[in-house]
Amino acid sequence: MLTPIDEIISKAIDAASDDLRKLSLLIHGHPELALKEEKACAALTKYLKESGYAVEHGAGGLDTAFVATHGEGGLTIGFCSEYDALPGIGHACGHNLIAIAGVAMFLATVEVAKQCRLPAVVKLFGTPAEESVGGKVAMLKEGVFDGCDLLMMLHPTAGYSGMWHSQCSLSMQIEYFGKAAHAALDPWDGVNAGSAATIALNTLGVLREQLKPSWRMHGIITSGGQAANIIPDYSCIEYTIRTQWERELEVLRARVLNAFESAALATGCTHNVTEELAYLDNQDNSVLGKMYEEIMQKEYGGEPVRGVGASSDFGNLSHRFISLHGMYELAGNHVPNHTKEFTRDAATVKAHERTLFAAKAMACIAARCMVDKDFWERVRKDFDQRKAV
Ligand SMILES: [Zn+2]
Ligand SMILES: [Zn+2]
Repeated sequence: MLTPIDEIISKAIDAASDDLRKLSLLIHGHPELALKEEKACAALTKYLKESGYAVEHGAGGLDTAFVATHGEGGLTIGFCSEYDALPGIGHACGHNLIAIAGVAMFLATVEVAKQCRLPAVVKLFGTPAEESVGGKVAMLKEGVFDGCDLLMMLHPTAGYSGMWHSQCSLSMQIEYFGKAAHAALDPWDGVNAGSAATIALNTLGVLREQLKPSWRMHGIITSGGQAANIIPDYSCIEYTIRTQWERELEVLRARVLNAFESAALATGCTHNVTEELAYLDNQDNSVLGKMYEEIMQKEYGGEPVRGVGASSDFGNLSHRFISLHGMYELAGNHVPNHTKEFTRDAATVKAHERTLFAAKAMACIAARCMVDKDFWERVRKDFDQRKAV
């Protein structure tokens, strides 16, 4: 038996389902990489404007970011949509579904506020570049989320969870500059930048002995030389480090930067490190997370997923705002993210239906925050306690 508010939410999302399916397939069929999500951003903002909402483009100085806003007074509740794809394998993280989940939660929450005459500001944040440079981190720095009381988003994965402690993550690009020479005629005149990249990765390999089990280091050489008979004058590594907590990230960062520097010293190269914005760990809220997991467990059974190793720029928001990053299983077959199978499943009707169910669950939680003062008080307390740790 649904409560009247649950029914408002369910009806609002079901009414939008066909439009959302079209948006999802359009985004899935035209995978766009980080900060180039023009089609996705245009389609989502067109739909929101045609539905009567005020939309601000270019939020936080990012061309493909947006904010839709409705209402005034009361709590300010924001939802996040993502819509960037991965190189080579398209929407293998299901961000086409995260895009429409955000819209669905936004529409349903607006409908609850309207029909129940509740004062509330409801926002939908279009947040680009989750897979690479961290659009949310840039938007956070520019104050785009200022004034929010609660931020929520959904993500498909291989199971459900309302308490996902993601890893801190820092990506960097390391370039080595040497001197080219003929590898047989006068190799002694060369300074081998390719060797610097090799030594750097070997040094990091040795360092692994002292990593905590929850830490990760991974990377690739994106440029190691042009031909076997030329001593390479340039090489480039893309590298990511991850830790469980923010304070550990600084420790690991210092060690890998030393390793990169030592490779330059050993080979006589110069080097340059470009660091991306760090993603922080996701600080879950146990009151919100528990309510989410109860709804998901009732529908799907099984146990919630704990301790998944991955990172999200939503983590940075969770350090500043009360938040819920809800995970749900994409298609019920435990397929992992970032695989071709995940891309395939992200376009199925089943995944669409599961996305909308999870969006309804999240909107019910947002509605409870608006109407149940005791519940909201417990949510706030949980957040304050976590911050004090
Ligand atoms: Zn991903
Ligand atoms: Zn993702």
